[in-house]
Amino acid sequence: MPILSEGVAPIPWPRGVKCPVVLSFDVDADLLWNVWLTKEPSPIDVSQGIYDIKVGVPRVLAMLKRLGIKATFFIPGSIAERYPDTAKEIAAGGHEIAHHGYLHEDCGKLTREEEREMLRRGSATIKRITGEEPRGARLTLGRTTIANLSDLGFLYESTLMDDDQPYHISVNGKPSRLIELPVCFAFNDTSYFAYTFGLGKPFLTPREVETVYRDEFDAMLREKKYCMYMLHPQIIGRASRLDMLERTVRYMKSKPGVWFATALQVAEFCQTVLP
Ligand SMILES: [Zn+2]
Repeated sequence: MPILSEGVAPIPWPRGVKCPVVLSFDVDADLLWNVWLTKEPSPIDVSQGIYDIKVGVPRVLAMLKRLGIKATFFIPGSIAERYPDTAKEIAAGGHEIAHHGYLHEDCGKLTREEEREMLRRGSATIKRITGEEPRGARLTLGRTTIANLSDLGFLYESTLMDDDQPYHISVNGKPSRLIELPVCFAFNDTSYFAYTFGLGKPFLTPREVETVYRDEFDAMLREKKYCMYMLHPQIIGRASRLDMLERTVRYMKSKPGVWFATALQVAEFCQTVLP
């Protein structure tokens, strides 16, 4: 699946902007554990996922309101269907809702037609509940996903890790109209905090992660690239971790030239300047 970054020229961000910062939250609920575990998730795993709905998302929304920031929430269609009030509350806060599959599928296991059907179903579900059709997606990519997203009129995708600024995706040497908003594990939360029985890896402390987040941000700001935080309310939404994220955001806000934007706002801007 040759998907290559087109060009390495720095992006001329809007006047006065040195570095856009996107806070994105994947609201996987219990589907997170279907992805991470090789066994059937236990009631305890599932309960961690439900923390998303009961505590994580409301706490994240309250923090975003305090900070005056609009964020992007990637939600699987089936989760929006099961918890419509959560999806509606996010949308009512002025945040973007983007596609995250229907059942958090591994697209590599779907045929091209099955994948199209999944994309249509996820979009229709989000639109029915929130009134807005998703323009971006974050998916476990398969061989046909980029072509399908492009055919179905999506503007951006946000999963790949081969650059630290947005670019137009090429498939088999042909440029597509789709913009990649790349991610990295440094700006993730699962890298440091994901834990359950049978998935034993040590937590880092919020203070340690704060150092990583700040250092990575400082470097992206210096290089005039961009920051795409890829977070999960059930993980980052634990109280001491969200305190840390809020400190980090206030630190970033103190620097001139930082633009807090949704993924869609960044993609729409990039569409006007990328070759
Ligand atoms: Zn996810």
